[in-house]
Amino acid sequence: MAIDFTLGPELEDIRQRVRGFVDDVVRPGEERIGEPGTMARDEYVSALVEMRGQAREVGLWLPHMPEEWGGMGLGHVELAMVQAEAAKARLGPWVLNCQAPDEGNMHTLLHWASEDQKERYLRPLCQGRATSCFAMTEPEVAGSDPTLIQTRAYQDGDEWVVNGHKWFISNAHRAQFAILIARTEDDPDLPQAGNTAFIVDIPSPGWTEVREVETMHGATGHSEILIEDLRLPADRILGGRGQGHMLGQYRLGPARLAHCMRWIAQAEMALDMMVDRALNRYSHGSILAEKQGIQWMIADSTMELYQAKLMVLHAAYRIDHKLEFKSEVSMAKHFVANALGRIVDRSIQVHGALGYSTDTPLASMYQHARWARFADGADEIHQMRIAQRAIAAYKDNGSTRTATGDLPL
Ligand SMILES: Cc1cc2nc3c(=O)[nH]c(=O)nc-3n(C[C@H](O)[C@H](O)[C@H](O)COP(=O)(O)OP(=O)(O)OC[C@H]3O[C@@H](n4cnc5c(N)ncnc54)[C@H](O)[C@@H]3O)c2cc1C
Repeated sequence: MAIDFTLGPELEDIRQRVRGFVDDVVRPGEERIGEPGTMARDEYVSALVEMRGQAREVGLWLPHMPEEWGGMGLGHVELAMVQAEAAKARLGPWVLNCQAPDEGNMHTLLHWASEDQKERYLRPLCQGRATSCFAMTEPEVAGSDPTLIQTRAYQDGDEWVVNGHKWFISNAHRAQFAILIARTEDDPDLPQAGNTAFIVDIPSPGWTEVREVETMHGATGHSEILIEDLRLPADRILGGRGQGHMLGQYRLGPARLAHCMRWIAQAEMALDMMVDRALNRYSHGSILAEKQGIQWMIADSTMELYQAKLMVLHAAYRIDHKLEFKSEVSMAKHFVANALGRIVDRSIQVHGALGYSTDTPLASMYQHARWARFADGADEIHQMRIAQRAIAAYKDNGSTRTATGDLPL
């Protein structure tokens, strides 16, 4: 058995190139662009497209996709390094075309779509000509329990007719298509086999964006959608009938972990800022870095970030090695989301009033960190699944060992 945490020279080179690209191209580009809404729309789009062009030119494009789709062909462990560098800038993942929800949708289409669907929907996504959304959550029922989904699709001749209501559909405002989850089966063998995934062109008659939901970080593209007699040809089913839940689970494993990789970047930025501030702020006879109360905050954050990195690397390793990964991804998602919130919070504390202002990115990071605890599975749902697996492991083997990462310890 080999446990080796070093990177080969080729991967170290990729990491350095991503870091350099973020420093030299993405950050200056972000500064030119300013906050969303400050630049005229055309100018804004062309600045973004220009950065994307530069990313493609230097071969930092689609790190998560195979080479035959124009990607870098990286595994999940390798992807962790790229995402954790890219997400140190707000637009980094977008410029490299590995941002949510497109990245998860690309994985889903690569695995489940027919050849025709791949050409029509996956190809433009990979080329950066299209963008997409994933429409599952509904205002009327708990998003945590997809067996409750009320959006219905019924067959009418060669077509499917869909009616329903979705919300918090990220990117729907800009997307050219959606992967939509709707109920098609009345009496499924398993409760979770009642839903089917469809691909919906946007715009389509019957698909109406009601509003972008205003969130605690502003209206940033999470839309409410009304679906009324939307007609879809039969070939818009993605995967098979009743496979919506399976497809969602397949999508969410790597997509949740990719979120964690980006959150690690944010947590590292917050910790770097915390230490920098502690070294440069003087109070009551010494710099903050010499105060024990501040050192504890730095120490706790350092330990949590270390745990976060190990958990993400191990879960990524399990996906790469085709080992069961659900529990490890659940544990990583829960831990990293919560660690991110705590680390950013401590960094704000060490910055004092400055941390509360919008002069630093901390306030925005804090707002984003909050949704991490329920998007893609609320904390309690992950805890429920983690506990179920620990109990089952104990019942089966007389030990919980296999439920704690199945590590050789
Ligand atoms: C910024 C953002 C972006 C999003 N993007 C998308 C998207 O692109 N597409 C999409 O489909 N959805 C999206 N969502 C929705 C997200 O996936 C849901 O919020 C999530 O699945 C939880 O569903 P819910 O909000 O209906 O909460 P509910 O399911 O109503 O849960 C509310 C709370 O109840 C508790 N709870 C629920 N069930 C249990 C249980 N069994 N045991 C214990 N406690 C429980 C938890 O504390 C949970 O936080 C997004 C959400 C946000 C905030």
